[in-house]
Amino acid sequence: MERYELTVNDEGEEELKVPLRGHSVVEHNMYNHGTAFTREERRALGIEGLLPSRVRTLEDQVRQGYAHVTVTPDPLEKYVALADLESRNATLYYRVIVEHLEELLPIVYTPTVGRACQEFSHLFRRGRGLWITPEHRGRIEQVLESAPYADVRLIVMTDNERILGLGDQGAGGMGIPVGKLDLYVVGAGIHPTQTLPISFDVGTDNAELLENPSYVGYRHPRLRGEEYESLMEELVTAIQKVFPKALLQWEDFKKVNAFELLDRYDEKILSFNDDIQGTAGIAVAGVVAAGRITGTPIEKQRIVVLGAGAAGVGITRILQAELDRLAMTAEQAEQAIAVLDSRGLLVDTREFDDEYKNKFAWSAEHARSLGLNPDEPIDLLAVVRAFKPTVLIGTSGVPETFTEDIVREMAKHCERPAIFPFSNPNDNAEAHPDDLVAWTDGKALIASGSPFDPVEWKGATIPVAQGNNVYVFPGVGLGAIASGTSRVVDSMFAVAAHAIGDQLSDEAVAAGHLYPPLENLRAISREVAIAVGLHAMELGLAPQQDRAAFEKKVDSMMWYPTYPTLIPS
Ligand code: NAD
Repeated sequence: MERYELTVNDEGEEELKVPLRGHSVVEHNMYNHGTAFTREERRALGIEGLLPSRVRTLEDQVRQGYAHVTVTPDPLEKYVALADLESRNATLYYRVIVEHLEELLPIVYTPTVGRACQEFSHLFRRGRGLWITPEHRGRIEQVLESAPYADVRLIVMTDNERILGLGDQGAGGMGIPVGKLDLYVVGAGIHPTQTLPISFDVGTDNAELLENPSYVGYRHPRLRGEEYESLMEELVTAIQKVFPKALLQWEDFKKVNAFELLDRYDEKILSFNDDIQGTAGIAVAGVVAAGRITGTPIEKQRIVVLGAGAAGVGITRILQAELDRLAMTAEQAEQAIAVLDSRGLLVDTREFDDEYKNKFAWSAEHARSLGLNPDEPIDLLAVVRAFKPTVLIGTSGVPETFTEDIVREMAKHCERPAIFPFSNPNDNAEAHPDDLVAWTDGKALIASGSPFDPVEWKGATIPVAQGNNVYVFPGVGLGAIASGTSRVVDSMFAVAAHAIGDQLSDEAVAAGHLYPPLENLRAISREVAIAVGLHAMELGLAPQQDRAAFEKKVDSMMWYPTYPTLIPS
């Protein structure tokens, strides 16, 4: 494994010692600067003659790189052009994305990355990250030593079973950890050599992939049960040994494994799950912002969550952590939130197949006190009528579940209802923003999972915020590794939500915006990181530092893609 150590000289310029000479320098994507190598570097590194004469600037290269990537209208071709750029010159790749963040985010991540996962075997050129398969059992530690860089701080791992809304993508799921780590790099400045994507490729139950002669993954039905668990145990133990400073982000596991792994390893390895906790962070940030608009603090909100899967339960967990932080009793907190699954309100008179639902079920007594009958299924309309929510969040994956009568009923009791149809993609949203605006006469405060255009209503333009997890996880990850916290806990996501909300200007609040502009992502991530790190210190999970020192530490860890001066080592 390579050590890649940027240093800063007396003039404040970044320098990098290069162990390679000649052709290998231009072939290495972290050392290659293309036509931007200076004449001195060309001489010193033995690459004279390997490049045309002119020395160009990074800015020039960014212009040309961007033009090259965007020459095609097809998002997948753009994805391939970007991947190709990354494999040649990683600094230029990240700089192009940083400078065109809003436009290129949907290419390097959802929705285009989903297509790339589906086409993975066909598109595969050069591997990024590690695939761990059952063939490595007993040798996983050794396999981890094949990683390109030694100082790994952030690992994103998936077992490929629930890739976005696309189900089991086998080895192709690797597109997700790769894309997510790129967002850590561009969003929070984690250095690319400190990231490691891992695909826990334990087979696939996707019949199409198993039958596809070009499939590049481990061609077996999925490992399950004890065999899966013991292989994961070996992998986690090996990660702790080989990369002791790394934060592990669980990504796109199917619901049952997602909850089990998060709980099993919570205290064993520094880790979190973005589908559960990151989603919750951005939903809670929306609730906080809606509260700024309506003047209702979070403890006074009545919140309904439709869909008790990874995202819905995550949101409820983080909301409960927040209410707990605000010193509400467990009973008060429980009664501030109502959760529904496909069979209606969670009430303790029901028997649940998923044990975790018990924790969020209302007592029958509370349901009765609101005039609901807990001995029968209680649907969303009945809950809205009885509970009079101020916030309605959809994580059911089912379109048209926020119907006109439900939304009109909510608007009867609430001046500015906050309605978040979070299910993706657009066609799965619980309601279309156009309808929400019409049914509430332009009063709804809307945040969706996928991007929607703003809605024109009676001469006004009503914004539709996108509850993108990218506001949350890069900053949380940076805050965790910069502070040296021993655990990532639920309340950190509530703290992150407030830090995001605080980035909204008063003008933006007055205009009804729920999230700050994405173009400020790096500044937002910085604030999230600082808030999360300080919170870890408050909880006694991280060594104490004063705020100024910690801010300096965070700033020093945020890499901005520029070329360091290369010096032969
Ligand atoms: P999941 O499969 O774990 O959970 C969905 C849950 O909804 C399941 O428990 C299911 O039983 C329940 N459900 C199904 N039909 C229902 C109905 N009619 N009424 C109530 N509940 C119903 O999936 P997940 O990971 O929790 O994701 C759910 C949705 O949230 C997806 O569409 C996903 O794209 C979206 N999501 C959005 C964001 C974001 O916007 N930032 C982040 C993560 C997930």
